[in-house]
Amino acid sequence: MSNPQAEIPIVVLSGPTASGKTTIVKRLLQESPVKLIKAISATTRPIRNGEIDGQDYYFLTPEEFEERRKNNELLECEQVHGLGYWYGTLKSEVDRAAKEGGWPFLEIDVQGTLKLKEQFPQTMTLFVRTSSDEEYEKRIRDRGTESEEIIEKRLATIRKELELAEYYNHVIINDELDRAVNEIGTILKQREQEINAG
Ligand code: 5GP
Repeated sequence: MSNPQAEIPIVVLSGPTASGKTTIVKRLLQESPVKLIKAISATTRPIRNGEIDGQDYYFLTPEEFEERRKNNELLECEQVHGLGYWYGTLKSEVDRAAKEGGWPFLEIDVQGTLKLKEQFPQTMTLFVRTSSDEEYEKRIRDRGTESEEIIEKRLATIRKELELAEYYNHVIINDELDRAVNEIGTILKQREQEINAG
């Protein structure tokens, strides 16, 4: 991969858990006015029921992941959940998007995004969140599946991530899905027009 920013922007979407990211990503892949190609991340976390290797993630052993990191094959990588598992974007995924004629679209965590932005300032960063901080607590508690300790940990992570939203290019409020999807579509279209105008 040469300098991806010279040709096409990398688009990154992130935001706290329970922000509705997954649905937004699905919708954008289908209906964004600018063709987006989802980068498939590499991870060392175990595969979950229903997941497909090479489709949801490239599931690697820690040794395989480390090998790729050493060989400089990763655009960015982070230990995301505090469980010691690695997640990273392969540079080959950015190349694949370019070959397929789309913009590489990454759904990665906040730390990984901020590092990527530092390295490639033209990266388009989108932060998805709900309008109220309290809504997160409600959504997490409504799931009703987790212990109080885990809930508190998740809420602390969410608070930290919300504080970092200001470093993103765009903060999208996802209280109404169609509106949020349209807003991102408009942002992408505008960027495309700027690029085409030189
Ligand atoms: P999962 O629930 O699939 O184990 O983990 C999802 C989390 O890992 C999300 O927060 C997602 O944004 C993050 N993630 C997925 N792929 C990557 C990646 O390639 N790089 C980074 N930095 N984070 C990633």
